[in-house]
Amino acid sequence: MKIICIGRNYTKHIEELENERPDEPVIFMKPDSAVLLKNNPFIIPPFSEDIHYEVEILVKINRIGKFIDQKFAHKYYEEIGLGIDFTARDLQQKLKEKGLPWEKAKAFDGSAVIGKFCKKSELDLAAIPFQLLINGEVVQDGNTSHMLWKIDELISYVSQFFTLKIGDVIFTGTPAGVGRVEPDDVLVGRIANEDFFRVKVK
Ligand code: ZN
Repeated sequence: MKIICIGRNYTKHIEELENERPDEPVIFMKPDSAVLLKNNPFIIPPFSEDIHYEVEILVKINRIGKFIDQKFAHKYYEEIGLGIDFTARDLQQKLKEKGLPWEKAKAFDGSAVIGKFCKKSELDLAAIPFQLLINGEVVQDGNTSHMLWKIDELISYVSQFFTLKIGDVIFTGTPAGVGRVEPDDVLVGRIANEDFFRVKVK
């Protein structure tokens, strides 16, 4: 499986990182080795002093597809989940300044937390409320109604470049409130009031 991530999909997050608002979705990928194994802690890697959490709504692809028309995109997923796109922000900043690819800052081992999934029929996809709590305190409070590009638009766009396969996961971008993790932090992700993942930082 592959992980396709969308950057800059929420206006307030674009502003907090002082990024330009893109004309098209920003896309990057994580390899399957980036997936944090279930129940494992997230270990802060030695090459970064500034690992940021980014909570994101996930979409699991359940059919193979390419050049998917937006009006058929809903047929390509049944399940929605929640995860974290861990980012070595200091390293990413250096790479960005040099115009280099972001992979080292975004695709390292353990950088993709994939929590549980639920049936999309249980949610109002246009307005999914989701949160990240650190040590019990809400640090990110998002809603898919604030996405610049909605799920079906993202699937259509991404499939112009990459064939989507069964089991692929799309990370749909993070809302405002990103920040640094510290050893012993406990990160809990919620959709509505239900826990979708729990990760300890080491
Ligand atoms: Zn992200």
